[in-house]
Amino acid sequence: MSAPVIEIKNLKKSFGDLAVLKDISLTVERGSVVALIGPSGSGKSTLLRCVNLLTVPDGGDIRVGEQSITFSGKNTALPRDKVLAGYRARTGMVFQHFNLFPHMTVLQNVMEGPVTVLRKNRHEAEAKARELLAKVGLADRADMVPDRMSGGQKQRVAIARALAMEPSVMLFDEATSALDPELVAEVLGVIKSLAKEGMTMILVTHEIAFAREVADKVIFMRDGVVVESGPPSQVIDDPQQEATRSFLGRIL
Ligand code: ADP
Ligand code: MG
Repeated sequence: MSAPVIEIKNLKKSFGDLAVLKDISLTVERGSVVALIGPSGSGKSTLLRCVNLLTVPDGGDIRVGEQSITFSGKNTALPRDKVLAGYRARTGMVFQHFNLFPHMTVLQNVMEGPVTVLRKNRHEAEAKARELLAKVGLADRADMVPDRMSGGQKQRVAIARALAMEPSVMLFDEATSALDPELVAEVLGVIKSLAKEGMTMILVTHEIAFAREVADKVIFMRDGVVVESGPPSQVIDDPQQEATRSFLGRIL
């Protein structure tokens, strides 16, 4: 079997006195889906942001694909801008609140990264963008501006935009939490189809039934530590830790 796509070792992050990630280690196998669950404030978003380098860890190692970085506080040498942009591009991030460019059309939103960061020519970028919009069910919305769309549609644009960078991993941070209930399914459907195609993903989610269905591995975090990790049949259906049982009891 090939090496995991992501390998995180002894990751630490504090904000002031608050230790938000305390010695987190985990691996993500190529083509697998990892669901990250846990109470609000447990450090899930911070962990995803560290993988994407939106937040710089205080200690530990992160390897994504070939590139690994060892963090040692202020002495950590981050890759130069261009390399950093490339690194980020390999880890496509989808946020709760879409973060689309409001003044651009849907098509422009999806083309922007490939043209400006990957230096693709517009022709190629547009063809790829249209293909991805079709994949998320929005082929006919290419010329709309995001303002005119539903939350579910916006989130699908955000997914297409992240995919346009041809990431080796997709990171979803509560991608459906801000959506009206009737719009959740269309976004989960897109995520599920990506899983079927073998996209490697980390999903922070409160959709436990969905996690059980698509995840190969479920990681339960609390207070900055991994409490329990394993297949859904274990962590969700037969949790070994009291903290996991109590969390699931509250949200199921
Ligand atoms: P989760 O996503 O599991 O809800 P977060 O990673 O967002 O948890 O937050 C974990 C803790 O870190 C929370 O107490 C939060 O207030 C704190 N935190 C997150 N980001 C920052 C920041 N930039 N500055 C200070 N505190 C932060
Ligand atoms: Mg969060």
